[in-house]
Amino acid sequence: MTIALYPGSFDPVTNGHLDVARRASKLFCKVYIGVYATPNKQLLFSTEERVELLRKSLLELPNIEVRCFTGLTAAFAKEIGAQTLVRGLRAGADFEYEFDMAMMNKKLYPDLEMVCLMASQEYQFLSSSLLKEAARLGGDITSFVPKHVAVAVKKKLGAR
Ligand code: ADP
Repeated sequence: MTIALYPGSFDPVTNGHLDVARRASKLFCKVYIGVYATPNKQLLFSTEERVELLRKSLLELPNIEVRCFTGLTAAFAKEIGAQTLVRGLRAGADFEYEFDMAMMNKKLYPDLEMVCLMASQEYQFLSSSLLKEAARLGGDITSFVPKHVAVAVKKKLGAR
């Protein structure tokens, strides 16, 4: 059984993340989405909120399971029995970082393979950070995220 782990901060999940998750669910028997609890980033949503927003977005896919984790991504992959890490690659923005991470993971866990899915054309420009920035400035984000995520972002920013 091929098990994959798609890790990230998902603060919050976007249609770009969901596109990668859905495509990965067709390639692997089981896909864990790993929500990294303590990324080196200023977060808008708590770990529980990020997990919940993802779960609600992927209810229709029974072979996807959302979990949170701390520590090394590769160690978490080993713990859940994943042989592959899935990441999304946007043109320009992601390659160097992903390449370095793949090299590091290969040193630490030689058996773990990394599969990068090219971001679909319509989501190339989409990132959680840009989305939050646009929302903060009053932009309409409804075409970039599922409806419940847009509502959660608005609520969170309104509450500040
Ligand atoms: P991280 O903090 O690990 O970069 P992110 O939540 O920003 O976590 O992204 C998780 C993964 O999803 C990364 O591999 C990232 O490159 C990928 N990703 C982010 N946005 C998109 C997008 N619009 N299309 C495809 N992949 C994406």
